[in-house]
Amino acid sequence: MVDLLIVGGGIMGLWAAVMADRAGLKTLLVERDKIGAGASGGVLGALMPYMPDRWDDKKQFQFDALVSLERDIATLEAQTGVSAGYRRSGRLIPLPKPHLRTIALRHEQDALVNWWLGDRRFFWHVQDSPAAAGWPENEAMASGVVFDTLAARVDPRLLLALLARALGQSRHVQIEEGRALAGLDPVAGKATFSDGYSLSFGACILAAGVDTFGHLDALPDKPAAASSGTAVKGQAAVLKADLDSALPVIFLDGLYVVPHDNGLVAVGSTSENSFADPVSNDHLLDDLLARARAVVPLLADAPVVERWAGLRPKAIGRDPMVGRHPDHQRLYTLTGGFKISFGLAHRLAASVIGEMAGQRDEALPDSFRCASHFSLLRAS
Ligand SMILES: Cc1cc2nc3c(=O)[nH]c(=O)nc-3n(C[C@H](O)[C@H](O)[C@H](O)COP(=O)(O)OP(=O)(O)OC[C@H]3O[C@@H](n4cnc5c(N)ncnc54)[C@H](O)[C@@H]3O)c2cc1C
Repeated sequence: MVDLLIVGGGIMGLWAAVMADRAGLKTLLVERDKIGAGASGGVLGALMPYMPDRWDDKKQFQFDALVSLERDIATLEAQTGVSAGYRRSGRLIPLPKPHLRTIALRHEQDALVNWWLGDRRFFWHVQDSPAAAGWPENEAMASGVVFDTLAARVDPRLLLALLARALGQSRHVQIEEGRALAGLDPVAGKATFSDGYSLSFGACILAAGVDTFGHLDALPDKPAAASSGTAVKGQAAVLKADLDSALPVIFLDGLYVVPHDNGLVAVGSTSENSFADPVSNDHLLDDLLARARAVVPLLADAPVVERWAGLRPKAIGRDPMVGRHPDHQRLYTLTGGFKISFGLAHRLAASVIGEMAGQRDEALPDSFRCASHFSLLRAS
């Protein structure tokens, strides 16, 4: 018997385990394959804020999370001596057309109003010079470039390794790789695994990425024929280039160019709603790489050292799906981070563990709550 069973060893499950450890919960985290086998084991690691205009509770929640992540990672790095490759390097958004500059200038003012926390302020500067010669090339920024000082990057695999290392020091949390959840009885509080092992739990967090939806859909009282979520495939690549690792992330129409440490630059990402093979790389990634090399000619001859693909979890409500299941007291979800999981997971995990202790997270946007997603499912 454990207090808490966490299913999934991705960014969501690992942060949940860290928060459970701090709450003193006897916890077992099971991972079907190995830590980072899912979408979290990718290469991009962009931590991008929403636009600073039309401010609402969702943008405030994400802003607070992006600010606090820096401190949370630094705490774990100090505790373990492991680096997550985190840097608040900012983001450049090239402005190829004059009307985009007009909009960006409005956002510059919006950021002054909305992008602050205590004495920390972040900016959306509209400027005319690149971060360095060719970063990005001139034509892409014919009407200037935005430099946002809030955005950051982290090495996804190093962050997972950091979290796993911290959990290795835990007295409360045990991790079992190679153990897959096969069946769940949330009423009795019993889980069965594909190897025949079974376990009683006080509470269970489904943090199994895209597979969470299948587990939810398999519950006997599922309210509708529709699924609770879907998978959106993404492809990305890593280039080797002799560049300053402090350069800002470049973002242009869905293209990300993310400098990491050790001369590595990640390029992403495709967004594919239909696909034959979830892990293959194809011409869509080649097209993306060609775009990256056009926007940043400095990468023209940089060799590709890795191609990668994964499945992003997208819940029915399109927002993260977090917290207690509306029909099952013992069952919680922590998934649906879609394209922004890495900036939110620590904060969402704290929310779920708090909810187990009876604390309602007032800052959590209603559209994130598991119950809101199930309302949509019922109405579908
Ligand atoms: C190309 C690409 C680029 C991306 N770039 C970014 C980015 O720059 N910034 C960002 O924030 N996000 C990005 N994302 C999205 C991000 O990677 C995902 O939202 C995030 O990793 C999801 O984390 P997760 O923990 O919910 O799921 P996962 O990482 O998929 O983890 C779920 C885990 O559960 C395990 N599991 C599944 N079923 C079972 C079972 N039955 N029993 C036990 N274990 C099970 C899986 O093996 C897996 O390890 C990107 C995604 C892709 C594909």
